[in-house]
Amino acid sequence: GARLDEELRRVSEMLEAADITCEITGESALGKTTLLAENVLSMCLKEAINNVVKHSGARHCRISIASIAQELVLTVKDDGTGMENGRSYVYGNGLLGMKERLEFVNGSLELSPAGEWHPHAKASGDGRVGTKVSIKVPHALA
Ligand code: ATP
Ligand code: MG
Repeated sequence: GARLDEELRRVSEMLEAADITCEITGESALGKTTLLAENVLSMCLKEAINNVVKHSGARHCRISIASIAQELVLTVKDDGTGMENGRSYVYGNGLLGMKERLEFVNGSLELSPAGEWHPHAKASGDGRVGTKVSIKVPHALA
């Protein structure tokens, strides 16, 4: 939908301004989500990218949008510092706000190491694990 497309454009500009390369994959054809869910998704995308810019020190970021089973899944991965040594994320207002809004539309939020997508940091061998933020919202009932 238009709202999410607009936010995708805005966050790519933010990342570009911060010298972080950005790849966007998948499609934002959100016919299946409600307008409310799309608004929540857009807000979450914005905060996830704010965090990448503010906290990660990443050089690369990948945003993907996919329809999986009954859900729309938006993931934001970065190759930044992440939470090494098993330290867990301490939720501040940004992450808590995302979580609350997602719960309101029966969605969910998960943070984990960026995992297999981490070629750049791996190559540099600096031990950075990156961050993956998964945001899910259910499709509207037909
Ligand atoms: P606010 O969002 O209220 O301005 P904040 O960004 O510090 O403040 P959260 O968005 O809740 O709060 O994030 C909590 C903490 O998680 C951050 O302070 C940071 O330490 C860590 N964090 C979040 N996203 C990332 C990321 N992409 N890479 C590394 N650390 C992150
Ligand atoms: Mg934040």
